[in-house]
Amino acid sequence: MAHATLLSGEAGIGKKTAARLLAQGLMCRGEGDKPCGVCRDCRRFMARTHPDALFPAPAPKEKTIKIDALREMIDALSRHALEGGNRVVLIENAERMTPQAQNCLLKTLEEAADDTYFLLTCDQESALLPTIRSRCRCVRLQPWSEKRVEDALLQRHIPPDRAKALSRYCEGSLGRALQMQEDESYWQARDTVRRGFLSVSSAAGMPAAVQVLKDQKDSGDRLLDILEQEVRALMRAGASGGSDGADDFPDLWRDAPPQALRRILEAVFAARRQRNANVGWAALSEGLLQTIAEEATKWQV
Ligand SMILES: [Zn+2]
Repeated sequence: MAHATLLSGEAGIGKKTAARLLAQGLMCRGEGDKPCGVCRDCRRFMARTHPDALFPAPAPKEKTIKIDALREMIDALSRHALEGGNRVVLIENAERMTPQAQNCLLKTLEEAADDTYFLLTCDQESALLPTIRSRCRCVRLQPWSEKRVEDALLQRHIPPDRAKALSRYCEGSLGRALQMQEDESYWQARDTVRRGFLSVSSAAGMPAAVQVLKDQKDSGDRLLDILEQEVRALMRAGASGGSDGADDFPDLWRDAPPQALRRILEAVFAARRQRNANVGWAALSEGLLQTIAEEATKWQV
């Protein structure tokens, strides 16, 4: 274990969980695999009452970690370990440290005693001073596979159809998936996309779809984002050689050829540009529906 470790990666990917487990493993004095989760040290670590585990964080009502928090930590470190074992300093979202606080930490990293371990987490390594990064062992956590996210969601008793959709759209971040699961407005928007954009199989279906989409001007950006996600998911499912990953899409869409999906994706990008150029929602959503209906008519022949 390096004396200073920086865990970085997408929000919600499990950096804090990993850092806490590593830190707890250093404190644990239980038998067998560490952390055991039941020994006195583990329990106190989890309750954040272990005297040799320090958690520099923003003061109440503040967003940044100021130099005072670092000075307090240094002061604590200057005394002998109270329990005679390892000491850990866990700084979550280390990018919240002000530049002064980062400089202060830097000195501590240089002078830290052998029994002291620093664990830092951050979304973006580049938000930390290069001098801090160069003193840490940097570990970039990789996005999870769709299958792993889906399994983790099923374990949390999330219904299978939602678990599948979430695993597809969370970009490999379990935290983001759990956040999306809680966000009812996301599911409503997704339903609107399915009943609107993804419901047209020919020009005959246009009026009904227009009806679904007509009052959605304010959520237009979100609908276009979700439509893009859906089209990309279909492309991935097609590329992986089957409709396996697309089994919750309507039959019509599982048959869509890749060229058609690419043209629809381009039409989504064009609609986004139009929206930025203040083209009205009714005109641009109907234009998009038209493209989808034309493509769908072709591939059904
Ligand atoms: Zn333990």
